[in-house]
Amino acid sequence: MIPVVHHPDYIGPARSGSPHQTNKYGLVHALLTTSGAAIDWIEPQMMPRIWLEAVHDPDYVAEVFEQRVPPEKTRRIGFEVTAQVARRSARVPGGTWRAGVEALDKGFAVNSAGGSHHALYQTGAGYCVFNDLAVAAHRLVEEGRTARILIVDCDVHQGDGTASLLAGRTDIATYSIHAEKNFPARKARSTLDVGLPDGVSDDEYLESLAGTLEPLIADFRPSMLMYQAGVDPFVGDRLGRLNLSHAGLAAREAYIAGLAVRLGLPLASTLGGGYGADLIEVAGRHVASVLALAQGFGLHKVAIATAPQHSTLDGCGAPA
Ligand SMILES: [Zn+2]
Repeated sequence: MIPVVHHPDYIGPARSGSPHQTNKYGLVHALLTTSGAAIDWIEPQMMPRIWLEAVHDPDYVAEVFEQRVPPEKTRRIGFEVTAQVARRSARVPGGTWRAGVEALDKGFAVNSAGGSHHALYQTGAGYCVFNDLAVAAHRLVEEGRTARILIVDCDVHQGDGTASLLAGRTDIATYSIHAEKNFPARKARSTLDVGLPDGVSDDEYLESLAGTLEPLIADFRPSMLMYQAGVDPFVGDRLGRLNLSHAGLAAREAYIAGLAVRLGLPLASTLGGGYGADLIEVAGRHVASVLALAQGFGLHKVAIATAPQHSTLDGCGAPA
């Protein structure tokens, strides 16, 4: 069974004209349900306010909960913080924390939303309200559930919020591999940043990832990994600048899962960026990512397409 944390609060209404569509999370849920994979669905609690306030400015947290986010912050976030958005913004970090707890118990778990890596101390940004990765990592460490967390961020955009919220921590480190010319224009400083030139494709990406992540792990010696599995490095992504294929994304997930298994590190994964006009295609990319990770942990077998059986191939072997 693949432990997947999900809650109906994750799913928002369609927003016309916005690249960020929270109704994609409903499609992810639907596609996972019909994928044939054995899923252990887990419902998360909301992240208690005290843990949000441990990482974000309590005044900003109040602005979100009371739906009085000022216009300049609304502009940075990219959508209005309504009651539904506020509820979602507390539920999703609760889910990332729960995925962390499940991963520590079972080795691997997924939050079927999250990866809100642009959210900063006093404001949200780039479609992110609260930084679920930073909030959950902080809580997991403070509760004594694990000692040292490395956040591995493979979204095509730099994890600037996570980097700045966790800067100076000795018990949580941040890694971001991203398109250097992409949003945000002003980068923060992660423990390790790998800024890639535009147009990087599968082999070069995977080589850069392995060549930089493994030395960081050897140096930092984490006790668990949290993974932002953005699928926006895909060649067809509306907001990406890299050229990864579907096979390249699957190879990335196989590599990350394989590394965690080899090193005996629990892996809690979140979704992340993924943009395009066809939301089913985008949701399909996220689902393929989840299933490839699960396969790396031996929790799922991705079906390998077999050639259709033609009667003309039987017996003498010459196709018609
Ligand atoms: Zn992104």
